[in-house]
Amino acid sequence: MSQRIRTAVRVEGIVQGVGFRPFVYGLATRLGLGGLVGNDVDGVFAEVEGSPAAVDAFLASLAADAPPLARIDRITTAAMPPDGTAAFSIAPSQPGPQRRTLVSADTATCADCLAELADPDDRRHGYAFINCTNCGPRFTIVRDVPYDRPLTTMAGFAMCEACAAEYHDPSDRRFHAQPVCCPACGPRLALTDAAGTPLPGEPLAAAARLLREGQVLAVKGLGGYHLAVDASSEPATAALRARKHREDKPFAVMVPGVAAARRLCQVDVAAAGLLASSRRPIVLLARRPGSGVAAPVAPGNRQLGLMLPYTPLHHLLLSEVARPIVLTSGNVSDEPIVYADGEAGERLHGIADAFLTHDRPIETRTDDSVVRAFRGREMVLRRSRGYVPEPLRVRARFARPVLACGAELKNTFCLAKDNHAFVSHHIGDLENAETLRSFTEGIEHFRRLFDITPEVVAHDLHPEYLSTKYALELDGVQLAGVQHHHAHIASCLADNQADGPVIGVAFDGTGYGTDGTIWGGEFLIAGTGGFERAAHLAPVPMPGGAAAIRQPWRMAAAYLDAADPAGCGDLDVARRNQRLWPAVVSMARRGVNAPLTSSAGRLFDAVAAIMGVRDAINYEGQAAVELEQLADPAEPGAYRAAITEPDAGGGQPLHIAGTDLVRAVAEDLTTGTDRSVIAARFHNGVAQLITDCCCGSVPA
Ligand SMILES: [Zn+2]
Ligand SMILES: [Zn+2]
Repeated sequence: MSQRIRTAVRVEGIVQGVGFRPFVYGLATRLGLGGLVGNDVDGVFAEVEGSPAAVDAFLASLAADAPPLARIDRITTAAMPPDGTAAFSIAPSQPGPQRRTLVSADTATCADCLAELADPDDRRHGYAFINCTNCGPRFTIVRDVPYDRPLTTMAGFAMCEACAAEYHDPSDRRFHAQPVCCPACGPRLALTDAAGTPLPGEPLAAAARLLREGQVLAVKGLGGYHLAVDASSEPATAALRARKHREDKPFAVMVPGVAAARRLCQVDVAAAGLLASSRRPIVLLARRPGSGVAAPVAPGNRQLGLMLPYTPLHHLLLSEVARPIVLTSGNVSDEPIVYADGEAGERLHGIADAFLTHDRPIETRTDDSVVRAFRGREMVLRRSRGYVPEPLRVRARFARPVLACGAELKNTFCLAKDNHAFVSHHIGDLENAETLRSFTEGIEHFRRLFDITPEVVAHDLHPEYLSTKYALELDGVQLAGVQHHHAHIASCLADNQADGPVIGVAFDGTGYGTDGTIWGGEFLIAGTGGFERAAHLAPVPMPGGAAAIRQPWRMAAAYLDAADPAGCGDLDVARRNQRLWPAVVSMARRGVNAPLTSSAGRLFDAVAAIMGVRDAINYEGQAAVELEQLADPAEPGAYRAAITEPDAGGGQPLHIAGTDLVRAVAEDLTTGTDRSVIAARFHNGVAQLITDCCCGSVPA
């Protein structure tokens, strides 16, 4: 008789809610091993007993053949005395005081589920909540760990007999899939008018009809409510824009598949991969002219944000509507996306004509993620649904648990422990009570999910940010103020698994500097632990402070006056704003209500206003976005900016003369050079000054 051994196995990483226990069960059973597998707060534990060869084969397959959504951080083993168990079983989940397991992100509907969705003979045919072990809602429905149905928003749906049989059958692809359900036992769709009165007809078909008729439909998705309209309808998209009070910021569009995306935009191999990935982000793509997307979808923008359906509801709706639809955050203007059922009718009142909703609650508000392909790689612009809460692995372990509170605009927070950094979902701009609540509740949720009690709390140096104030009010923690642009560069280092030192270039709108001025055109020699300010754009006054951010023409006045105090009065930008121009110039000169800034954003604003692109903005970064759209990619010329030492040999940071670029723009404009050429020469000039400064080739 062959020798028997028993081995205890622990698997850490994203191993819950991804079909890991059924996978282990199947593997052990195939190899004729006895033992057990279960979930606990640390991940998955197993004990396997049998011949040494079978146990070895088990361990070899464990990482190599793991389910598609699993992410294994570590497997550890320990020998145990065999007890003669021949059968293999699944142990009940074990709650405990320590919670270290990882929760997976929400995942787009898989091919197997799509096949069932389309199969008239399947009991889930056309069912808007079909999911399995490999797909479906996760982070957005999790209330606590371990990840088990009673601790999700599916707790209120008791499984029917058929679903329960699948759930308990280790050979079924829904074995222990926590959100498993069907039309008999799971969530249901409802279609109501704006007053909440149910509308007649099958909800999906009726909703699709409303969209085709040009109505604005609120659709409850995974992480919140979207607003949908027919993307080809000029009146419908214009109505949505007017009702949302969102003047120019582009809307995202959902298309049924990559082929449909190609009809609207240029989609290369890398972008197609991003569109079709199980994370299903919004992918920014170059538009094809004349594609039939209505003008108000992305006014004056060469790009369009596209995404593919990521829930069964989206798949069904898109196939009913049979055309691309706008799918934009369900909110007014800059408020956070609506996600609670009670508030949807109220906050979207006056915007949506009808509501396509369901009765599965959303636990955590999670916006769509936004990415683009850059040189064949994914570049993440907004990391949220589909990515969160997957941690980033960092090289150096955190000696103590850390909470990083983030900045004011497009806030995310981060909880870190060991070598995991859990970056939160997109919280938004911390400027109203609702977003602040998302921020504070989000931190509590992450603390519970990942069992992290921060001992060190990092905050932005800006004393007025609500995230800074939150940090400063915490008791019993060590506070660490972090300079804004150092944080940008350090996060870039973490993303690239590097420690530095590097020359970090942070070109930004606003960040509080260590000298109390507003930084934003920075060259820092930085590592993760510290930095030295090596060079920056020469400071200019911001006449009117925050007003200069909303009205780029004020920065034009300040920059032109600094570039050439005698000669700026005859430009169009001065004529357009002649009533206030002299007062603003005087404000800049005297330094009254005109804080100094080295911001790159304000330099772009100044140039955009001088060129007549925009004197005032409706959303953050708009002037720079539109200036970039104007630039002719074929123009090779570049303006030059002088780089000087403000005090020879004194060790002060180098100054880069943004005024040189502004002067060149004004001169070319005066001589009638094409605006697209000027915009290109300015952008090329900025790129040139960055390489000059980093390479030390300082022009004379
Ligand atoms: Zn599936
Ligand atoms: Zn069922």
